[in-house]
Amino acid sequence: MCVFTPKAPSLPNRIEGFMKLPRFRSAFAAATSILLSVAFGSAQAADKILNLYSARHYQTDEALYANFTKQTGIRINRIEAGDEALLERLRTEGKQSPADVVLLVDAARLWKGQIEGLFQPLKSSTLQARIPAHLRAKDDGNGSEWFAFTTRARIIVYNKSKVQANEVADYQSLASPSLKGKVCTRSGMHPYMLSLIGAISEHLGEAQAQAWAAGVVTNFARTPRGGDTDQIRAVASGECAVALTNTYYLARLMRSDKPQDKTVMQRIGFVMPNQSNWGTHLNVSGGGIARNAPHRDEAVKFLEYLASDQAQIYLADGNNEWPVVPGVKSSNPALAALGEFKQDTLPIGSIGRSQITAARIIDRVHWR
Ligand code: FE
Repeated sequence: MCVFTPKAPSLPNRIEGFMKLPRFRSAFAAATSILLSVAFGSAQAADKILNLYSARHYQTDEALYANFTKQTGIRINRIEAGDEALLERLRTEGKQSPADVVLLVDAARLWKGQIEGLFQPLKSSTLQARIPAHLRAKDDGNGSEWFAFTTRARIIVYNKSKVQANEVADYQSLASPSLKGKVCTRSGMHPYMLSLIGAISEHLGEAQAQAWAAGVVTNFARTPRGGDTDQIRAVASGECAVALTNTYYLARLMRSDKPQDKTVMQRIGFVMPNQSNWGTHLNVSGGGIARNAPHRDEAVKFLEYLASDQAQIYLADGNNEWPVVPGVKSSNPALAALGEFKQDTLPIGSIGRSQITAARIIDRVHWR
């Protein structure tokens, strides 16, 4: 989902050149960088520009950005790449980074940016009022702050001819002896799995979460491989009976006109797990203002815009996700089919942080 798109307008050549500067530290290079930075900054102040580093790229995002420019006169330069590539780029660029706003997907990755201090603090009464407190995170040490702008749930899919919905009502049931040889998952080291396992450890404690993870590994139908859509297809084909997926992958299949996808959807059912206790695990896409943002005012305007009703609907529909602002409703038919459900309200910052525990668990139970 997070792939570089050649459609995106590239930064002006001057900026690209600046960003390709070799990473050596002679006095000359440093002076050159400062001069370029000053020139770049003043030119952009006049132009009203925002440099956006984004791991999102969906068709509706074009309208999202165009609408912001229309409202504010601020032009958006986009760098679109995968989450890890963007984080690496920010680290490499350091204080000379032209990034103003950084958008990433999954709390595990946003937390990485947080603890490395790649975001800056932001006091915004608009964001505080519109985004629920458990969907914002701030680092106590470095002040790095980020906000969720959409949510997705991690849910259970099952093969209707092999399993009943009530056998897989909770994440805990994936470790049940009755599912031996029936569970498919992607690698436990993937951020989506680390976030879920981290959240489960927050609820059960590390020892119980590890016992659960060991039970899931015992139930594997095959060695973990592939992405979420691969797990759904493996459930439909009967290679396994149960798997985990983020909701937007299921929503894409629900909305697909392809005959093979329709067949997949006929064979599988889905469960929003843990409705009788802590609720279904939610993850997010989100972002914050880059630590060294040259255009801070524009960056604040952009983040506040992302929390507006209209932008929330663009953002959510772009990837079949839910808006974070309470009361904003999209008319997405796949989301309607997923229905209302009880959501886990663990603070998103604690989900990010708990991936350290999750990684330890994954190692010990060999969920590779
Ligand atoms: Fe994804």
